[in-house]
Amino acid sequence: MINIVLSGPPGAGKGTQATKLVDKYGFKQLSTGDIFRAIKKSDSPLAKEVISYMDKGMLVPDELTIRVLEAEVNMYMNQVGFIFDGFPRTIAQAEALDKFLAGKGMIVSAMLALEVNDEELKKRILLRGKDSGRADDQDPQIVEKRITEYNTKTAPLRDYYAAQGKYRSVYGIGDIEEIFAKLCKEVDDLR
Ligand code: ADP
Repeated sequence: MINIVLSGPPGAGKGTQATKLVDKYGFKQLSTGDIFRAIKKSDSPLAKEVISYMDKGMLVPDELTIRVLEAEVNMYMNQVGFIFDGFPRTIAQAEALDKFLAGKGMIVSAMLALEVNDEELKKRILLRGKDSGRADDQDPQIVEKRITEYNTKTAPLRDYYAAQGKYRSVYGIGDIEEIFAKLCKEVDDLR
């Protein structure tokens, strides 16, 4: 079983590449962004809480995020492996994930990090916002906030996984297929 943390700033192409990796290798993709977007639509107290963070470009608190993610893993056990897309996003989440997986005799195999500069990210997200309907993609100030959240809270995960020898950087600008080929090479090295 191979478990991959697919990381990168908002707009780096995680969702696009995760879908392609799923098609090729049969991983189960778990996207906390997608999970939270589904919760947002649910007209529950939890939805209101999630909306209060997401629509401001802020991270949802760790405790809630970890709880939601663990429930999903438990639902989809016995797969080829997982692609964690957009999780973990903080050191506390990474530590919780390691502990949770260890309890099941599993580990994170590697973190594949898509590297894209801030200017390119802003362009991509605002372009996506034109037809994605995502409120957090349409307002430049919210986009800026998400990138700041990434740089302060998520970027330090590089060191966390590097210390375990699991960090792999992949340049995320260029042709989608070329980027995918680079990711596949990293996955094949794990097998
Ligand atoms: P993007 O990668 O484009 O920022 P996502 O769909 O991954 O978009 O996430 C959208 C929003 O969902 C984030 O801005 C945040 O509010 C929330 N979210 C997603 N994953 C996490 C996480 N692991 N921890 C905290 N908040 C999260």
